[in-house]
Amino acid sequence: MRYVSTRGQAPVLNFEEAMLSGLARDGGLYLPETIPSLEGIEALDGLSYEEVAFRVIRPFTGDSFTDEELRGAIDRAYARISHAARAPLVQLAPGHHLLELFHGPTLAFKDFAMQLIAQLFQIALTRSGQRITIVGATSGDTGSAAIEAFRGIDNVDVFIMYPHGRVSEVQRRQMTTPAAGNVHALAVTGHFDDCQARLKDLFNDHAFRDEVGLAGVNSINWARVVAQIVYYFTACASLGMRQTDFCVPTGNFGDIFAGSIARRMGLPVRRLIVATNQNDILHRALSTGEYRVGEVAPSISPSMDIQVSSNFERALYLAYGQDAGAIRQLMAELKAGGFSISQGALQTLREEFRSGRVSEEETLATITRTRNTTGEVLCPHSAIGVAVAERHLEPGVPMVTLATAHPAKFPDAVERATGLCPALPPHMEGLFDLPERVTRVENEVEALKSLILERRTR
Ligand SMILES: *Cc1c(COP(=O)(O)O)cnc(C)c1O
Repeated sequence: MRYVSTRGQAPVLNFEEAMLSGLARDGGLYLPETIPSLEGIEALDGLSYEEVAFRVIRPFTGDSFTDEELRGAIDRAYARISHAARAPLVQLAPGHHLLELFHGPTLAFKDFAMQLIAQLFQIALTRSGQRITIVGATSGDTGSAAIEAFRGIDNVDVFIMYPHGRVSEVQRRQMTTPAAGNVHALAVTGHFDDCQARLKDLFNDHAFRDEVGLAGVNSINWARVVAQIVYYFTACASLGMRQTDFCVPTGNFGDIFAGSIARRMGLPVRRLIVATNQNDILHRALSTGEYRVGEVAPSISPSMDIQVSSNFERALYLAYGQDAGAIRQLMAELKAGGFSISQGALQTLREEFRSGRVSEEETLATITRTRNTTGEVLCPHSAIGVAVAERHLEPGVPMVTLATAHPAKFPDAVERATGLCPALPPHMEGLFDLPERVTRVENEVEALKSLILERRTR
């Protein structure tokens, strides 16, 4: 399987190379040259999550991993998801189902991809003898998932920058309590945008990049998208492989884009519905055809407080008929604030995607109402999904809403909506007793560089 960049000017890579490099050198995102269709879709019902994962992921990895290596990585990754079904589907109302993706070690769907890629990195790096340094910026969930997945993995040091004082206490503790020597939580003075800007500085310093073997695991990493395709298959298998709509709380467009790939592989996904909070660039783009960047307005669903939605570039690339030149042009316009999607591409996108935006009040009201009518307690991100899904329910077409985090990860919003403070699941009960380990660092690239050079394992 060959991987090409959405901007057409980076080397063609195999799966392992695309996974280890993250972003393409031309600033684009890697995609497979052709998307494989999956044989035997009707026979998936009743198989374990791990077996479905193997069948779905196998066509993408080419000869990067043997079957045995891939199976081993999948088994080790998902043994850490506490629910026997891994991604259980529960019913909310007639025809409306919730896909619970929050039973992993850090209580958000990001564990599904991060746990697997940590295992795949381990295999690839052990084979090559290479050492790498992963640096990431997080508003909370990506960083905790990365630290949890890579702690104790050989040949990798992980540094995660988060904005000091601006992540939830559960998120912070998930980053600061793992004791492994190869993971480092860095509390940066500033906002999430500062962390992300410093990350770019580090990647743009080529001498530093080569010296430490810098690698990225943010949501544009193709291997993360691949891991997220699997639960669309298990959900459809549970529903008898009928035409099904999926509603996905969306920020960087990674999770929902995995659904789009599942559809192209032959899964009977009818529509994919983008659910956004007040930071609604994707909803505006799909409704008006104008992709214009605004200011981020902090919300009670902070993991979706995003204005530039990185993975949307992949959907545009496909909607523009894989025309890398057109994507280069759009991304150049984006630097100046935004672009208009062509009529043809917009029509293609609208055949597949629907969208909706949910206000802060409606998010809280949805948490309250869903608890009263079903007993299910939603996190604010999942509530946005449920609210948008309810607007798009159609008789005869099952709807699956992705529940992206556990309510206990965002207790303040849940308590405001229900009066109850959601309890951490049993496997996390010790979180508030463990000692924290964190380094404060100024919002300054030289300070970060010396810290990384000093702390990394050689
Ligand atoms: C990351 C995240 C999202 C958004 O997912 P994308 O793949 O960026 O669209 C939604 N909800 C939660 C809880 C998240 O952590």
